[in-house]
Amino acid sequence: MTPHNLTILGATGTIGVNTLDVVARHPERFRVVALTGFNQVDKLAEQCRQFQPRYAVVPDAARATALQALLGNSPTEVLHGEAALEQVVALPEVDSVMAAIVGAAGLKPALAAAKAGKRILLANKETLVMAGRFFMQAVHDGGATLLPIDSEHNAVFQSMPAGYDGDLAKHGVRRILLTASGGPFRTRAVETLAAVTPEEAVAHPNWVMGKKISVDSATMMNKGLEVIEAHWLFNAKPEQIEVVIHPQSIIHSMVEYLDGSVLAQLSHPDMRTPIAHALAYPERMAAGVPWLDLAKTGTLTFETPDIRRFPCLQLAFDALQTDTTAPTVLNAANEEAVAAFLDHRIAYLTIPATLDAAMQRLGSARADSLDDLVAIDQEARAVARQYIAGHTR
Ligand code: NAD
Ligand code: MG
Repeated sequence: MTPHNLTILGATGTIGVNTLDVVARHPERFRVVALTGFNQVDKLAEQCRQFQPRYAVVPDAARATALQALLGNSPTEVLHGEAALEQVVALPEVDSVMAAIVGAAGLKPALAAAKAGKRILLANKETLVMAGRFFMQAVHDGGATLLPIDSEHNAVFQSMPAGYDGDLAKHGVRRILLTASGGPFRTRAVETLAAVTPEEAVAHPNWVMGKKISVDSATMMNKGLEVIEAHWLFNAKPEQIEVVIHPQSIIHSMVEYLDGSVLAQLSHPDMRTPIAHALAYPERMAAGVPWLDLAKTGTLTFETPDIRRFPCLQLAFDALQTDTTAPTVLNAANEEAVAAFLDHRIAYLTIPATLDAAMQRLGSARADSLDDLVAIDQEARAVARQYIAGHTR
């Protein structure tokens, strides 16, 4: 078997590390062409020693020098800067790109992979939330293949009919049911949410994830972003997407058909399952995940999300309804608010308040180009930062 060549963007993050864990189980199947990191130069150096990529990318010259020093005379060439990210996804030898950078920084390299016609394993949901229309167009025009890594969307993808082409009605699909764990504050008294600390917010009951997405899970903004992500991936209207809380995180999402059938994908809450699914697609391969023992799992339960507790979820549905750049505004304001909250600069409940303020100010702008969108993203960040400055504690 000729090995499949991979570039992993965000290799040092949670998704990146899980991807390398799966890849290491199948050395005959995959070859790592490029790995990218940001702050954790030591960790990236260690990954380079183990996987011997042709390229490693860091953000700036200082970190490039540091990485080079750690690597000594290894065959890995060290590159730096944003352009290098776009370069290592578009190399002719690269077959697949794992897009696992967090936040808006992941957009440009994901777009470059789309334009280069690669198979894109998309973890960076912010790409679709920020620029869904432009990204999907680039995937189409570039002849790229898009495989969702987000566990919910990967579950939907697996539960869809083979050859699904973006027409729900034609395939007899009535609705997409996205499951949500409800995060760490599902049952906490609403009156006490004002006192939530960053440490409490990042302590997710079922998943081990990066800090930003962990806070997003606590506010359920993550599910809101995922509703928007599902809209673009599966061409589903807002009213064709429903969110259901499922605290055990065993069912990762479902597809409901016109005949009343509901198909679901189940597994342990371990990202190596969707990662291995996408890496091997359309084949299957071992992921290193324990087998699901349903008798031991016991009860699976479901609830309707309480919008008073999770206002961010409603804001995402509202943003999607407007067919404007509201999702871009929402995403940008959320990144600013989450960073400020993690920094102990604002209270937990100031996160939804910041999003609301940004949406009110900028929610109905339109964008005819990617440059317009980037400008709106910047404007939304400025509005959010101003709001945050007026509400620091
Ligand atoms: P993380 O914070 O653990 O890792 C982020 C990675 O991005 C790191 O490798 C970091 O070096 C890199 N990075 C950060 N800022 C960067 C920048 N400005 N430029 C270039 N690289 C940068 O995050 P994660 O949990 O691995 O999540 C990655 C993405 O996958 C996010 O978009 C998240 O929403 C999505 N996702 C994660 C999970 C999960 O279980 N962790 C599940 C579904 C989707
Ligand atoms: Mg998810």
